Amino acid sequence: MIDRTNLFVDTMQTLGLGAHPQSLIDGQLQDGTGATITLVDPFTEAPLTQYPDAGETRANAACEAAAIAQIAWSKSMSAAARGQIMQDIARAVLDHVAPLATLESLVAGKPIRDCRIEVAKVAEMFAYYAGWADKLHGEVIPVPSGHLNYTLREPLGVVFQITPWNAPIFTAGWQIAPAIATGNGVVIKPSELTPVTTVALVKIAENAGLPKGLVNVLCGLGPTTGQAAIEHKAVRKVIFVGSPETGRRVAIAAASALKPAVLELGGKSANIVFDDANLKHACLGAQAAIFSGAGQSCVAGSRLLVHQSVHAQMIDMLSEGMNAITLGDPLDDATEIGPISNARQFAHVSGMITSARADGADVRSRDATPDTGYFVAPTVLNGLKNNANAAQTEIFGPVVTAIPFADEQEAIALANDTQFGLAGAVWTSDVGRAHRMADAVRAGTFWINSYKAIHVSSPFGGSLNSGFGRSSGTDALMEYTSAKSVWLDATPIPKIAFGYVS
Ligand code: NAD
Repeated sequence: MIDRTNLFVDTMQTLGLGAHPQSLIDGQLQDGTGATITLVDPFTEAPLTQYPDAGETRANAACEAAAIAQIAWSKSMSAAARGQIMQDIARAVLDHVAPLATLESLVAGKPIRDCRIEVAKVAEMFAYYAGWADKLHGEVIPVPSGHLNYTLREPLGVVFQITPWNAPIFTAGWQIAPAIATGNGVVIKPSELTPVTTVALVKIAENAGLPKGLVNVLCGLGPTTGQAAIEHKAVRKVIFVGSPETGRRVAIAAASALKPAVLELGGKSANIVFDDANLKHACLGAQAAIFSGAGQSCVAGSRLLVHQSVHAQMIDMLSEGMNAITLGDPLDDATEIGPISNARQFAHVSGMITSARADGADVRSRDATPDTGYFVAPTVLNGLKNNANAAQTEIFGPVVTAIPFADEQEAIALANDTQFGLAGAVWTSDVGRAHRMADAVRAGTFWINSYKAIHVSSPFGGSLNSGFGRSSGTDALMEYTSAKSVWLDATPIPKIAFGYVS
């Protein structure tokens, strides 16, 4: 049995970090000044390490470092040179897949094979946005006067990014890459529960040529460190990825300082299976939609809507499938589902299953889970209506509520009967029906005979309690820039109809 604390410290050292989480400010690793935070290994439930909350002084220093570095990055360097550095970062990330994946797996409890894929995707994000660095330009607008009117797309300045614990390095890359490609400086605060891979990523980026201070990482708590950064005058926009409750607080704090925000929040996405679907594929898709990542995914297919004629068959297939899934040590290559990432989330998921049972759900769950760790067995809740608490509240665990429907109209009504609007999917062999569902279901991302496919080149985001604004693709280029309209009077006599010059 490996000593997991030693592995944590060794991997931190391999990545150039200290033995405990430290903020990275202006290229320097710095201890915080606030309350002590304990990281717990979700597989052993034993403490891994402790560190102090960054606090207001560090938050202010990070914002100031980003403000200075951003000017040089956007004004003194060509866009092509910025893109070249981002290509170098992409290669450097690929050179560090193994230690980054190990660290992510240890701290977040994610299966190592998922972590390797997510780290590789981070490299892809930097490579994708590297290509955009010198291709973002304004336009010339044919205004009805003698003016030449053109637009410039300008960086915002410093942006503050707040990320959750479920996919820490993936979300860091998802937000940092478009922000710096468009010339911004960044302060990022990962979840206090999973801060280290974000620090490691930025350290790797700095070693690959990213100017120090351009991206700063704050290791600490939301209400202290996060709040201070939101309020700092250098911060021009807040990008928040996390729960609707915290998102509301962050949006209010940003709005009271007259700062815009992007909110990427939760979901309760409908995965809709019609009787004309390939049921085997639909069942595999349904398992991937809710059980992968132990269901800790904002786009999880947490409501399985199945045509009534195949509902019972689908539940049986799902139940059989979940017994074949390998639960275990996240560091083990064979593991498909690891533990829930932290004790608070474990209590929430377990509590939701208990209350669903009390509400009358027929709970189908595999029985065997590992002896230690915050494990929740893959679970299907049957027999509940769509207005049940378990069908309306984000569980963020490997728990799916299965609900039958009679026809297309009922499937649409059920899918949209939610406070969220993040994702959805349909399984059908009828191409016309597939498009009708894509059109009718309220979702920022919709899959047809597929689930969970996302890519940095495609826009991502939601509506209602799933938030607003878009990440990734060309939409992120717009979120991280603003348009400046420039007017040049090209006529021989200026067209100003007011004023006096002697
Ligand atoms: P959370 O809202 O508890 O925390 C998210 C982040 O907010 C953390 O970094 C936390 O420290 C910070 N925070 C907390 N209070 C704050 C405050 N007052 N001011 C500033 N920052 C504060 O979310 P979580 O439990 O870490 O993550 C799970 C949630 O994230 C789920 O709801 C999930 O659906 C959502 N999520 C959404 C997306 C998306 O892209 N839509 C992606 C991943 C996760």
